Amino acid sequence: MGHTFSKIKQAIALFRNIDFDQLAAIAAKVDLPQLMQQFAALDEKQLRHLTAMLSPGTSKKALPPIDGDFYDVYHTLTPEERAIQLKVRAFMEKEVKPLVNHYWLHDEFPFELIDKMRALDICGVTYKGYGCPGLSFVMEGVIAMEMARIDASIATFFGVQSGLAMGSIYICGSEEQKARWLPAMQRLEVIGAFGLTEPEVGSGAAGGLTVTCRNTPEGWVLNGEKKWIGNATFADIIIIWARDVEDGEVRGFIVEKDNPGFRVEKIKGKMALRIVQNGLITLTDCVVKEEARLQHANSFKDTANILRMTRAGVAWMAAGCARGAYESALDYTRKRKQFGKPIASFQMIQGHLVEMLSNLTAMQTMVFRLSEMQDAGILKDEHASLAKVFCTLRTRDIVSRAREVMGGNGILLEYDVARFVADAEAIYSYEGTKEINSLIVGRAITGFSAFV
Ligand SMILES: Cc1cc2nc3c(=O)[nH]c(=O)nc-3n(C[C@H](O)[C@H](O)[C@H](O)COP(=O)(O)OP(=O)(O)OC[C@H]3O[C@@H](n4cnc5c(N)ncnc54)[C@H](O)[C@@H]3O)c2cc1C
Repeated sequence: MGHTFSKIKQAIALFRNIDFDQLAAIAAKVDLPQLMQQFAALDEKQLRHLTAMLSPGTSKKALPPIDGDFYDVYHTLTPEERAIQLKVRAFMEKEVKPLVNHYWLHDEFPFELIDKMRALDICGVTYKGYGCPGLSFVMEGVIAMEMARIDASIATFFGVQSGLAMGSIYICGSEEQKARWLPAMQRLEVIGAFGLTEPEVGSGAAGGLTVTCRNTPEGWVLNGEKKWIGNATFADIIIIWARDVEDGEVRGFIVEKDNPGFRVEKIKGKMALRIVQNGLITLTDCVVKEEARLQHANSFKDTANILRMTRAGVAWMAAGCARGAYESALDYTRKRKQFGKPIASFQMIQGHLVEMLSNLTAMQTMVFRLSEMQDAGILKDEHASLAKVFCTLRTRDIVSRAREVMGGNGILLEYDVARFVADAEAIYSYEGTKEINSLIVGRAITGFSAFV
């Protein structure tokens, strides 16, 4: 009797769970009574197989995780370094990713991120003292990679602040200059920019700067124009490199934004790194006190010391941009179906993915070693230049394949890869073009300078 009651209870519970609208929809397509008869004829084993086939999740094989670090390149990071890497990754994925396409499209900078970035406490990681922790160049590279993996513009903003601007003061500044500016820059309370390139002088900056400085009783007087200067539209201080009219040597100056001789105009219409605010600077009898001249910048060799340090960071950024594009593309190809199958199951798509991963793995291995050399104090210009050339070239290839395997959606901003494709173009050109960096490596390996 009890057994019968429990069967009735089970049947009632079953009926309560039935969605009769769905059942009616199924009944319109199949002969339900006949189907029920066939089910009733199944033995227990056949029924078990059928249940397993129909229950969600059990029929699908779990796919491998999406991870562009195929060789576990970062396994030697200390637990402290790994924690910083994951902290930056979480920030980029949670705080930056949802915003970037909007800001990229509108050619604006997301100022609301600065406070959150400050909380990360990652600015100037390699410097010792002045509020900076003195961590490794490998750590700095990993941070650049993690940032660019989500967005190369934010990575560039950070690279200008932490690398070029703070680096100029750290490497070429006096004790007073370092103490005054670096702690506030580390906290992102003072934003910096780095002004080397000019409208008519890019690759030839070493010998060709036309912005002049003249030492007068009132101070140094700067005149001329600077182009492409990242962060310049809102930076509090701008490092300006100028040629001394007396001896022809290159000197560096910390110019504050409210200097009456300083004017900046935003460069509009960029098709890459649109979140980065690049400025065209005009210096008109811009007077800067001796205290604001970088005391240890006495020739272009000193400027080159800064560029050597930051060029490695750009190679890391290229690796990050490539990794972001590869991981987005892999994810997409596993979800997108054509001819009834995920496109990731097609041989030619897998060919693209494997070529992307090969180059990405080579890049990450290379930049890791590059920063190890930097940490060991044996990094030379040609080492950084080789990585900049290789990584930015390969990144262009990777982002273009990522776009290709995504078909039409590859050119839509909402799928992220289109942004990586565009941004890779700027990374390819700044901090020394492929040609200039190739000439640096060529000179080192052949013993002949092919610079003209
Ligand atoms: C988005 C972006 C951000 C930037 N941010 C900054 C910044 O913050 N601060 C800053 O100072 N600068 C910045 N730059 C400038 C950047 O560093 C220069 O664009 C770069 O150095 C190349 O100079 P150029 O654009 O004048 O090209 P050019 O020097 O005019 O070169 C044009 C072409 O000629 C080739 N070429 C030049 N000389 C030779 C040669 N001897 N042999 C063979 N080929 C040669 C180049 O490789 C290139 O292909 C930025 C640029 C961009 C695009």
